[in-house]
Amino acid sequence: MATAPRGRLQGKNAIITGAAGGIGLETTILFAREGASVLMADISEQALAKALEKVKEIVPDATRVETVKCDVSKEADVQAMVERQDSWGGTDVIFNNAGIMHADDADAIDTPDKIWDLTHNINVKGVWYGSKHAVLSFRRHKKTKGSVINTASVVALVGSATPQLAYTASKGAVLAMTRELAIVHAREGFRFNALCPAPLNTPLLQDWLGDDQAKRYRREVHFPTGRFGEAIEQAHAVVFLASDESSFVNGTDFVVDGGMSKAYVTPE
Ligand code: NAD
Repeated sequence: MATAPRGRLQGKNAIITGAAGGIGLETTILFAREGASVLMADISEQALAKALEKVKEIVPDATRVETVKCDVSKEADVQAMVERQDSWGGTDVIFNNAGIMHADDADAIDTPDKIWDLTHNINVKGVWYGSKHAVLSFRRHKKTKGSVINTASVVALVGSATPQLAYTASKGAVLAMTRELAIVHAREGFRFNALCPAPLNTPLLQDWLGDDQAKRYRREVHFPTGRFGEAIEQAHAVVFLASDESSFVNGTDFVVDGGMSKAYVTPE
């Protein structure tokens, strides 16, 4: 007799930060489709409400999808977010994905101090707090496996000629931190991988590029495919890293970039 198809994330409780848009929202939709129970976290309550509506429309038979307002740069918020899943049976997967790239981020000379601090508080401390409270939760619930996926960027791997120094340094920190966490917690069964997306068609980058065709072209030209990536292409990778299919994948810089960081492309 045929058995009912089981989702690749069936039975897993997942938290996704920055879930109201871009990569986070696409990942929420795929996680829900694959049977996970998802807690969507974001700093914007309004955007979260809209995103939840969209998820419910696209995945009407989702196991469980809820939202929580959380500023990942505040440890108390992150702790409350993770503890929200205590009554669900504890967290199995956390996707520390919330991040910003500020319009005033520039080069070594022009990046304001406060933009450096803001960027690092969200992009680095946010990932640290998410990882820390995930480990505490995995232990509290006696989990023998857990998956933490942290969003870095290709700028952590290759130097960008168009400066956004605070952002680049923050993503380098995410990559190094994730690698060390992977090694430290490997024997507990807790995996940590960093996702490295290339520039994408999401508001984070597209709002920043705006109508500036020259700025846009300076990035597009580096893609062997000739196009930016799509958020859903990142989300598919995150499903793999969250699932038990990736049980021997740990400490990786998981690059989803259409070949950009391996390319030698020059303008025609
Ligand atoms: P996005 O701007 O579409 O979504 C980011 C979400 O994070 C937003 O919903 C925003 O409200 C939320 N957020 C911002 N600050 C927050 C905070 N303090 N606490 C909680 N939530 C907060 O961005 P995206 O493109 O989906 O980016 C997601 C991640 O991918 C980020 O870490 C980003 O740096 C990274 N990334 C993006 C690109 C790209 O080109 N879009 C490339 C490489 C890496």
